[in-house]
Amino acid sequence: MQMRDRRKITVQGVVQGVGFRPFVYRLASRLGLGGTVRNDTTGVVIDVEGEPASLDTFLQALVAEAPPLAVIERVAAERKPVRHYTTFAIEKSEVQGEKAVFISPDVAACPECLRELADPQDRRYHYPFLNCTHCGPRFTIIIGVPYDRERTTMAGFTMCPACRAEYEDPRDRRFHAQPTACPACGPRLRVTDSQGNEVPTSDPIDFVGARLQEGKIVAVKGLGGYHLACDALQDEVVRELRKRKHREAKPLAIMVPDLDTVRRLCEVSDVEAKLLTSPRRPIVLLRKREDCPIAEEVAPRNRYLGVMLPYTPLHDLLMRQVAQPLVMTSGNLTEEPIAYEDDDAIGRLSGIADYFLTHNRLVHMRCDDSVMRVVLGRELPLRRSRGYAPLPIRVFMPFSLPILACGGQLKNTFCLARGEYAFLSHHIGDLDDYRTYRSFVEGIEHFKRLFDIAPEAVAYDLHPGYLSSQYALSLEGLPHIAVQHHHAHVASCMAENGCEGPVIGVAWDGTGYGSDGRIWGGEFLVADYSHFKRLAHLEEIPLPGGEQAIRQPWRMAAAYLHRVYGEAMEGLNLDFIRRLDRRVWPIIRQMMARGVNSPLTSSAGRLFDAVAALLGLRDEVQYEAQAALELEMLADGTATEAYPFRILSGGRPMVVETKGIIKGVVQDLTRGEPAPLIAAKFHATLGEIILEVCCRIRELTGLGQVALSGGVFQNVRLLTATVGRLTAAGFAVYTHSRVPPNDGGIALGQAVVANAILAKGR
Ligand code: ZN
Ligand code: ZN
Ligand code: FE
Repeated sequence: MQMRDRRKITVQGVVQGVGFRPFVYRLASRLGLGGTVRNDTTGVVIDVEGEPASLDTFLQALVAEAPPLAVIERVAAERKPVRHYTTFAIEKSEVQGEKAVFISPDVAACPECLRELADPQDRRYHYPFLNCTHCGPRFTIIIGVPYDRERTTMAGFTMCPACRAEYEDPRDRRFHAQPTACPACGPRLRVTDSQGNEVPTSDPIDFVGARLQEGKIVAVKGLGGYHLACDALQDEVVRELRKRKHREAKPLAIMVPDLDTVRRLCEVSDVEAKLLTSPRRPIVLLRKREDCPIAEEVAPRNRYLGVMLPYTPLHDLLMRQVAQPLVMTSGNLTEEPIAYEDDDAIGRLSGIADYFLTHNRLVHMRCDDSVMRVVLGRELPLRRSRGYAPLPIRVFMPFSLPILACGGQLKNTFCLARGEYAFLSHHIGDLDDYRTYRSFVEGIEHFKRLFDIAPEAVAYDLHPGYLSSQYALSLEGLPHIAVQHHHAHVASCMAENGCEGPVIGVAWDGTGYGSDGRIWGGEFLVADYSHFKRLAHLEEIPLPGGEQAIRQPWRMAAAYLHRVYGEAMEGLNLDFIRRLDRRVWPIIRQMMARGVNSPLTSSAGRLFDAVAALLGLRDEVQYEAQAALELEMLADGTATEAYPFRILSGGRPMVVETKGIIKGVVQDLTRGEPAPLIAAKFHATLGEIILEVCCRIRELTGLGQVALSGGVFQNVRLLTATVGRLTAAGFAVYTHSRVPPNDGGIALGQAVVANAILAKGR
């Protein structure tokens, strides 16, 4: 008799719901091995037996040939006494023990499914809900773990005999594909009017396609909620959508039939093409071509367009039908969360959509599209959601106990962490809206169940007004750990890069609550995970009217001018001064003089606002960071010349005096220099400031690593200029590529900081 060995192998990572067990079955069969494979709550457990050489091959191939959606985090094998298995079998899931399973994000339809979709001979021809173990909905339909059909929103659909046969056949691509369906047994499309009344049609896609081409607005139910779709080529149609949505300025995303069409609209690099076509299918911000035919209304004053390719079979059919780009924006009124429940969608969107293209597969978890940019050949996430969440970020320093981090107020995400993994949530949104706040609370409960994490500590932002902080403090019986906003930004950047620290952390954003109770936002810290020290910041300037000054950049411009020129500012030969409201301005001047409702801020975002207003870009904004974004878009040319600035190093922290920048901008404006050039010089100046301050800090501390974080680093021009300068000066530079530099990333930072503080306390 031949030599035989038996191994028990456990595989952890994203290994459920991705075709892992049938893959193991096929592999074992190919190598003539006996045994079993099953899912349990920690991953996949394989009991395998056969010739030692074949077992070695098996172990190698297990990782090397794993299915496309699998993410293997760990493989452990132990020897067992031989049992003389004669066959290999797939066993049922077990529900027991500690859950340590990762859940796959929703992924785009795979090439094989798309081929079936287009094949008139196939029984799933034109069926908008086909999927297989390599593709389809996951996170948004999963109610609990282990991942089985009965714990998804597909539970109510009983498989037909044909689907059942595929589902039970280990050689089939749909073996245990939990959401599998066909026209005979699965979800169905239907069309309703704006009031939710059924519109009879034999071909919903054809019907809706024709309406879209006529210029109608249609709410389309996708993976994680509803989109609002309309013709992206006609300005009037898009204007009408904006009007109904009360979203007057924010750029809208478009969906484009295929990559070739995208290339006709935008410049597409190889990395961008790869990202667009990846199974994650995010919205990618791409530079518009000169001759881009997309309606200006889609992304006014923006050199970029947010573009995505179809990612569900439904989108694919719809895009084939209309064969042109469509606006595909979140199905909501401005500031509300995206609608995902059918009744709620009809209630909230009936004033916007003329028709609904909907279906009876429920969305259990709302999930927005992810938004990415590509900078220096790498991804820069602006919103990490569909296709990415809920995959965890693996951290350098394991969590010594389970932690909940509640994130910020705007662009909220939360984070549940345990062991080596930080499960950063999908995009939740701005907590000011009650519905969004509720989905924050419910989301936390859902994640706790899915990943079986019972937090033993809770981390939150120092800002007493953040609802996420108030929620954290309302949880009783747990240690509460406050984390300063910019420390969290820097720590999030360190954590995603596996950087141990300490680093020089450059945290620039609009607003964050400082340890001294003031509003910070142009910060240079020296930080490791448990500590930080504020070594420098931008000069403080009053925010006349507080929140009002954030919505009205002209107030910032006036505050800066007043700081530099005093009363003489009114004599400056500037359009800005000619526009200045002579009734309001004296009141504001007095407010500042008396220190009434004029808190001081070191915010970099507000400096952007001031310059944007001086350049005449905008005196009021309709969404966060609008002026800064438009200033980035305006900048043109490769100005390397910088405006003067000074670093006042007398006290601690050092202060970057910004007078020279304002003076320089004013001089250039009075000389009639073009605004795009001034904007470019402004960006170059900020790059110089960061370089200069980092060099000073390096002299003081010997540190040569810099982490760049905070919402300002969504600005690609600034990020590129800064990374270039720092690298040339010999710094090792860490930037974001896995979590957003904006407040969507701070929950990760809070979690790692809280963990380090707790570890120190022991
Ligand atoms: Zn597929
Ligand atoms: Zn079926
Ligand atoms: Fe921030």
